[in-house]
Amino acid sequence: MKNGWEAIIGMEIHAQLATETKIFCPCAASFGDEPNANTCPVCLGLPGALPVLNERVVDLGAKAALALGLNINETSIFSRKNYFYPDLPKGYQISQYDKPFSSNGTLTILTAERDETGRAGDWKPLKIRIERMHLEEDAGKNVHEGLPEVDKYSYIDLNRAGTPLGEIVTAPDFRSSWQAYDYVNHVRRVLQWIGASDADMEKGNLRCEANVSVRKIGEKEFRTKVELKNLNSVRFMQKAIEFEIERQIAAHEAGEIVNQETRLWDEKNQQTRIMRSKEDAHDYRYFPEPDLQPLVISNEFIAQVKSEMPELPDAMLKRFMRDYDLSFADASQLVSEKDLAEFYERTAMASNNPRASANWILSELTRELNNADKTASASPVSAENLAELIKFVDEEKISGKQAKEVLIEMFQNGKTARELVKEKGLEQVSDTGAIEKIVDEIIEKNQNQVDAYRNGKEGLFGFFVGQAMKASNGKANPKVVNEILKKKL
Ligand code: ZN
Ligand code: MN
Repeated sequence: MKNGWEAIIGMEIHAQLATETKIFCPCAASFGDEPNANTCPVCLGLPGALPVLNERVVDLGAKAALALGLNINETSIFSRKNYFYPDLPKGYQISQYDKPFSSNGTLTILTAERDETGRAGDWKPLKIRIERMHLEEDAGKNVHEGLPEVDKYSYIDLNRAGTPLGEIVTAPDFRSSWQAYDYVNHVRRVLQWIGASDADMEKGNLRCEANVSVRKIGEKEFRTKVELKNLNSVRFMQKAIEFEIERQIAAHEAGEIVNQETRLWDEKNQQTRIMRSKEDAHDYRYFPEPDLQPLVISNEFIAQVKSEMPELPDAMLKRFMRDYDLSFADASQLVSEKDLAEFYERTAMASNNPRASANWILSELTRELNNADKTASASPVSAENLAELIKFVDEEKISGKQAKEVLIEMFQNGKTARELVKEKGLEQVSDTGAIEKIVDEIIEKNQNQVDAYRNGKEGLFGFFVGQAMKASNGKANPKVVNEILKKKL
């Protein structure tokens, strides 16, 4: 960082846990329904309605906590976080405060700085501390209509009120915007991978906030931090952090005061701008929720969740590099999605050629999937059928070029490699007897060229190969043709 400054960044992620129903009532937690269709006395906050904890929230929360390297606490307490807002009809949010569901985590992520073109430098492990992940309910949504400053109408949609969230808070361990970027992507992928959250930022079921400050390298104290909110994508978040670092350094160097405030990212003007000052720091007057029992988690339950945990992407990446001799770049791409990683592994097993399987999937199949806007799990070509095609090439039944054409047809009409090779009569002739016969005929028919070749005109070899391929209608295995020609000439 320039002139001896360093950035200090801490991250907060709210991830919606992928339950069917809300955290304290049986209303659907689905997205995109008619406003206020999924509500009941509990999530509307009507007097006397009592919350009941959804067990599935605990299951998914436990999975998420363990996958992110957190420790699940034996006892956690739900607390009321009191504040007034129109989308919060109870006047408080049920959250967790001094006794959270999980805490004291360490997580190792892979991270790289990017150059101006977005190209990543060396990927390095970075260990970060995750302070906690607590469970809480989401608030509803205010929808404003009219001018941006003076709303003509405001509506309240409480479908989201009471959907379950895991709030994941890190220590201020990031030193660059790209580290924060790689962290959020890591968390997103892990949560999707284990099925704990859809983690789709567009649907708002993963939201992130960054706390950013800067200080001179060597300083022990933190300087005033700014909170960045309403970041609609990971890339916008990265840009907002980058802008904020530069803004704060410039302010400190000019002797100006950096105020504690909440800022937004303005994508149109490529800058952060103030949303509200933090001078009126909230006092939420947390106190234990009297309508819910403490949440007690047994060791048996934790052991059970651990035993059901799938292999996580970083472990799979290492294993692919080690067992299948793949490059970091190829293995990373294959583990970018769970479906793709599993598809790869099935192909590699069935074809017995992990290297070629990676090449076929990352080039030919990925291109077809992208064109059809499909993911690996919806591929019309199954892993087993792709493996069969790879084997045909390995056994020299068809050429690599032919195989590429066959794959496109397999993708389009769902036929197997075997069916198409047979239908199109592609199978290469590797039968030496048949090829010898062809070669003999060619030698007999082209005596002049044979004499010239034998007298040193070696360039004619290609002519004989061409003749043999033509006589076999292109089906002869070129390698076998070469060998036999060399022998006979
Ligand atoms: Zn409800
Ligand atoms: Mn929260």
